[in-house]
Amino acid sequence: MREWIVAGNWKMHNTVQESVALASAIKEGTSSLKKGEVVLAPPYTALARVSETIKGSRITLAAQNMFYEDKGAYTGEIAPGMLKDIGCTYVIIGHSERRKYFHEQDKDVNLKVKKALSVGLKPIMCVGETDEEREKGITRSIVDRQINLGLSGVEKIDNVVIAYEPVWAIGTGKVATSAQAQEVHAFIRGILKDLYGSSANNIRILYGGSVTKDNIGELIEMEDIDGALVGGASLKPDGFLGIIQKIAEKK
Ligand code: PEP
Repeated sequence: MREWIVAGNWKMHNTVQESVALASAIKEGTSSLKKGEVVLAPPYTALARVSETIKGSRITLAAQNMFYEDKGAYTGEIAPGMLKDIGCTYVIIGHSERRKYFHEQDKDVNLKVKKALSVGLKPIMCVGETDEEREKGITRSIVDRQINLGLSGVEKIDNVVIAYEPVWAIGTGKVATSAQAQEVHAFIRGILKDLYGSSANNIRILYGGSVTKDNIGELIEMEDIDGALVGGASLKPDGFLGIIQKIAEKK
């Protein structure tokens, strides 16, 4: 059985103090959880303190990005080993905002995924089509390309999490319908089965895009939706805990 995951991507929000307060509230609100995985992805500046804050809970830590080299003259970049050192279990890779604003290509995503795995970090690899691509009817070919290139040369898939995040749904309030999301999730699982055989059945595929506690209920009932990657609604304890509670009830 696949264990559900809810990951909160705080993006470029929260000072260290605000991050610790939010993480503490989520720790308290999830203290009686018996299953599932709650992942917090604060900004780099707050990783160390959030790492300390979540000790003794079932919450794990993620970074929002990393570079694909171990060390060197790469001003402003963060190495995978530094993330391990600070207590990260996961790292988000290929988020659409990285692709859009920082011009990350599938080949960069692939280098990062392979590097993350090589140091023992679990990549949450994001894929998804834009509005225009959906309108053109090329959602499947876009996602197919992103998965195949992103995972090129990755032999063992067990530690990879995929996040399907239609770009038109991120931060827009336009959530995909459960049928739209399930269709793409099942398509992704099909690609993973072609690539990795039956181990694809163990891979968690998260939905992301304007998830709230009010719309997660229907999405999470879908067979191939194993959790959520949450942006805006992860910034307030009530909203995020509400999503976790709904998922824990239904999965
Ligand atoms: C995200 O950034 O991964 C995301 C899904 O954002 P939001 O929930 O705000 O749409």
